[in-house]
Parts: sequence; structure tokens; C-alpha cells
Amino acid sequence: MADSNFIDYVKILCRSGKGGAGSRHFYRAKYVPKGGPDGGDGGRGGHIILRGNAHMWTLLPLKYRRHIFAGNGESGSGGRSFGKDGEDVVVEVPCGTVVYDAETGAYLAEVTRDGQEVKLLRGGRGGLGNWHFKSATNRTPRYAQPGEPAIEKSVVLELKVLADVGLVGFPNAGKSTLLSAVSAARPKIADYPFTTMEPQLGIVSYRDNRSFVMADIPGIIEGASEGKGLGLRFLRHIERNAVLLFLVPADADDITGQYHILLRELEQFNPQLLDKHRILAVSKSDMLDEELTEEIARTLPDDIPHVFISAVTGQGITELKDVLWRAITDDSNRLATPDIATRDLDEQHRDKAEDGFIFEYTPDETEDDDEGEDLRDISAQAWGDDIDYDDDGYMWDEDADDTDDSQNRPD
Ligand code: GDP
Ligand code: MG
Repeated sequence: MADSNFIDYVKILCRSGKGGAGSRHFYRAKYVPKGGPDGGDGGRGGHIILRGNAHMWTLLPLKYRRHIFAGNGESGSGGRSFGKDGEDVVVEVPCGTVVYDAETGAYLAEVTRDGQEVKLLRGGRGGLGNWHFKSATNRTPRYAQPGEPAIEKSVVLELKVLADVGLVGFPNAGKSTLLSAVSAARPKIADYPFTTMEPQLGIVSYRDNRSFVMADIPGIIEGASEGKGLGLRFLRHIERNAVLLFLVPADADDITGQYHILLRELEQFNPQLLDKHRILAVSKSDMLDEELTEEIARTLPDDIPHVFISAVTGQGITELKDVLWRAITDDSNRLATPDIATRDLDEQHRDKAEDGFIFEYTPDETEDDDEGEDLRDISAQAWGDDIDYDDDGYMWDEDADDTDDSQNRPD
């Protein structure tokens, strides 16, 4: 598989940017003895955003990008200057990319459409500068809010090919040959198993300029769902197909038996696969004469429509396309839109608000001066109690530009 550039699984460490700290600056100028607090707000940390790109078909570009870090927000400064926002990182992924938490395996998001953006990790909000905390009882707030911490998460991206029709069959059943006969896709075809190492997508043109997507999924052998052979890794690509086309070669000893084995494999992998619409194609039918065809037809299971086809002579191909098209366009075979795709990723975050500051600091009536104030309590109020103060990353702003209180104390 050395020459394969089809990558459908990558693990990446992502980190959003942390919010910049608010500044606790006091206005200082000649002849202005009590300038008052004028520390500006810190900038927002950068988000990590995934964006669907219909022109990508593999996760290869991400394979060597093990870390994705967004920029940190800059600290605010005097004169109510805002800190600059950290840079967002937009990661382009193929449509059909599913994101899982690498540690817990929990489902996080799915990108299904071209241009669809999913905010994977939200950047930390910037802290408020000290001028926000001016009040009648405290005109010299010597504190500002720290920036919200960054979020770091190791995620797994998995690509699920989104095809209308998935081909299911043992190696050598003729799947690749069929795909190349009905579409412009040129999969490797050979007389030995596992010639198809990666899922191949082909666009099958149908009457009246209509078309659908067919995917050749590498052969499943018996036991594939237990990890034997190549099947397991690729089986997930048909999880999303609307219709499954089973291919069993005409020269198989027991066509119905093979079909049932395939069915069992799918069921073991994911029982939901059996809910999909199924069609059975007896491939390589050019090897049969009419009499034999009729004889086989009688033995085939009657709970599934069947078509005799030959990719080589073209026999039955038009009929097959008709059957497939009817199945694809049948509303009852529609793929359910994954409910999780739209799930709010903000849950991972402490805060539900869009970039704005929802800061609910209510000055304590009993504090008449800032003397001896416990700054930690304030920040705990600001960002919630679960802040880890051992992390130097968001301690109070100790910038040199901060006011030396002894010089500037208005009182
Ligand atoms: P896959 O493993 O299911 O993708 O099977 P392939 O498409 O690679 O085909 C396996 C073998 O079957 C190749 O040698 C093909 O030439 C042969 N084959 C495929 N389709 C037909 C067909 O319609 N008629 C005949 N006679 N041979 C076929
Ligand atoms: Mg093949």
C-alpha cells in the first residue's frame, strides 16, 4: 500500500488560542492626578475551524500536520486599547469527515457539505480591562480579568466516503470492473484478491444528464468484521451509502450462500447496515447461457431484487442502472442526516456566548476599597470556578506597563 495516497484516518493535536489578559492600567498624564483606570480588554484567542471542501478526497494533507495550534489573543493595554485577536486556523477537510475525541472516542462533529464550517475548538475569550470594574465604591480597580484559557484536544479525523451506491462483494467478484464499465473511474483490476486497496469513487452517468456516485469498497472476506483482511478498515465507507449493491460472480458455487455470508459480515460490523436497501447483481453473467441463467434465477432469494450483469459484454448494465436509480431516488432510502453534525460544540466550553463578553461581575457592596482584595475570587467569578491557577498562562496581568500604585493612587 506504499503508493497509496488515500488516507482516511489521522490523529491530530489541536489547541485553540488563549484569550489575552485584560490590562490593569491607570491613565497617567501631567496635571491629571487621578487619571482613573483605562486598561483595555485582551483579544480573543483563535478558533480551530474545520471547513468542508468538495475537491478534497483524502485526509492526506493532514497526515503530516500533527499539531494545529491557533494564535493566542494579545493582552489589552492602557488607553482602553484592545489586544489583538489570535488568528483562527481553518482546516480544510473532505466532505464526510467525522471527528472523534482521541482520548474518549466520543463523537464530536461531522463535516458533510462543501463550505460547511464547524468550530471544533473555540478560542478563549479575552479578559476585561480594569476600566470595566470602575464603580462608585471602587474607583481604582487594580485588577483586570485574565484571558480565558485555551482548549487542547487530541482528535481523530475519519473520512467516510459519501456515495449513493456501495459495492459489496468478495475479492474478485468484479466490483472494480463494473465501476470502470459504468463510470470514468479507473480502478486497478486484476485476477487476484485485494486489487482494490482504497475505496474508488465513480460517477455513473444516467439518462437525462443525471448521475449518481458509486463506490468500490475493497473486498470483504469472511471474518472481515473481526479484523481479518482489508475489509474492516474500509467497511465504514459504506455506512453512509443509501443503497448497497451486492456482487456475486456467476461462477460462484453457491450464489445465495455467498450473499448470506456477505450479509452476516455487514451485520456483525454494524447491524444498521442491514436497514439499507439492497440489490443483488450476479456478475460475470457472460459466462452463463440462457438456460443456466434461468436455473440460477430460480435459486436466488426472493427478498432482494436481482440483476444478471456482465461488465465485459455490457449485458444487464442498463437494467442495473435503472434499478439503482429507482432505489436511490426512493425517499425511503434517503440517508438520515446525522443529527450530531449540527450538535453544538460549545458544550465543551465553559461558555455559551459568541465572542462577546458575558461578564457578570457584581461589585461586592461590603468592599469599600481594593485593599486586600482577593483577586482570585474575582477571576473565579469571571470564568467559573474551575480555573486552574497553577497554570502560569493565565495569571493576572503583571505587565510592566501596569501602574505603580504608589505613584498613581488617586486618593
Ligand atoms: P474485484 O476484486 O471485485 O474488484 O474484481 P475485479 O473487478 O478486479 O475483477 C476480478 C476478475 O474478474 C478480473 O480478472 C476481471 O477481468 C474478471 N471480471 C470482472 N468482471 C467480469 C465480467 O463481467 N465477465 C468476466 N468474464 N470476467 C469479469
Ligand atoms: Mg477491485
